[in-house]
Order: sequence, then C-alpha cells, then structure tokens
Amino acid sequence: MLNRRSTEQRELIREILQQADEHLDADNIYEQARQRSPNISLSTIYRNLQLFKELGLVEEHQFGSRRYYEPAPQTEHHHLVCLSCGRGFEFKCPSTEGLKSRINKEEGFRVIAAEVCLAGYCPACQERLTATAAGNRTIPGQKEVK
Ligand SMILES: [Zn+2]
Ligand SMILES: [Zn+2]
Repeated sequence: MLNRRSTEQRELIREILQQADEHLDADNIYEQARQRSPNISLSTIYRNLQLFKELGLVEEHQFGSRRYYEPAPQTEHHHLVCLSCGRGFEFKCPSTEGLKSRINKEEGFRVIAAEVCLAGYCPACQERLTATAAGNRTIPGQKEVK
C-alpha cells in the first residue's frame, strides 16, 4: 500500500514538471502537488527530484539562491536569470552550435553540453523598479498633492 502511494506521488511530481510552462522550484512543485495529494510532504518532493536528477529525467538549474527544475532531455536552450524575482527565462543561442564545432576542431575537445546563463532584470521587474523610482518624483503634468 505504502509502495503504491509513493509511486502515485512520484507520477504526480513528474506530471507537474511535464506540464509546467516555466521552471519550478521545490516549493512551487510542493504547492501544486498538495492540491491533488494533500498528504504529500516537502521531503517527498526533494527525494523524488533527487531521484529524477540521477535518472536524467529532470535538469536542475541554480538561479540566484534557488534551484529550479525542468524535465529533461530538452532541446538545448539557455537561461536568463532575473536578479530581482529570481525567475529563469529561456533563450535559444544558435552561436553555441558554432562554438562547439570550433572547439572540437581547434582544441580536439568534444563538447556535449553547453549552458549559457545570463543575469539581469526581467521585463516585469524593470517595470516595477522604474515605477518605484518614479513614485518618488512628481509625475510631469500631474498636480502636486499637498
Ligand atoms: Zn524579475
Ligand atoms: Zn530551461
């Protein structure tokens, strides 16, 4: 019985990862899993993520201070990491293909994986940060409230 439940929970975690349209951290997965399996624990989430990682089913990325997960294998993509909200965004970088073959030719080193991670601020955070900064000033054309 216990075994069956842990298999179901494992499937649930996999499903959440497969269906996610963004990178999830363990807390995100836990919140979603709890809605469907109220007895699931955070340590179960961590244990399964570790297992999936070992089996090559998920990829783990460190964005800022948090670790995020996404299903693997994937078409190669790279990440933009927001320093404000910590979210990871994906981008494709065809030039890494060229880099790989150049390294192969010039260094004789066979590259099998390349990951580019660029840090900065996402559009939403830029907007928020600009709005916060603007809040300290009087907006032109608006009457100053005394
Ligand atoms: Zn952000
Ligand atoms: Zn990704």
